[in-house]
Amino acid sequence: MSSAAINREVILTVMGFGVAMILFGVVLLVSWGQNPFYIVAGFFLLVLGMAAFVTPLSIFSRWDSFPVPKVRCRHCATLNYETTARCRNCGANMFERAAPLS
Ligand SMILES: [Zn+2]
Repeated sequence: MSSAAINREVILTVMGFGVAMILFGVVLLVSWGQNPFYIVAGFFLLVLGMAAFVTPLSIFSRWDSFPVPKVRCRHCATLNYETTARCRNCGANMFERAAPLS
């Protein structure tokens, strides 16, 4: 159930690659005078970078709000998402009230 956290890192990494590819593509396009091949390579990098940058954004937009685990399990103290019904570590019911002190 920790796939959301992995997704976030993957998305940020892919977007970083996209930005880097766009910047590199722009640099190649600007310096095309040195080598005509730079136009092709720069354009290719630009398209790839935009795709790598836009695709994660479409994944972002599918989520209303980015899930951040902030509810602590009463049994094992693992952080869980507010929307989860059961603890992702021990499976305890998250809606269950803590055992009353006797
Ligand atoms: Zn738990």
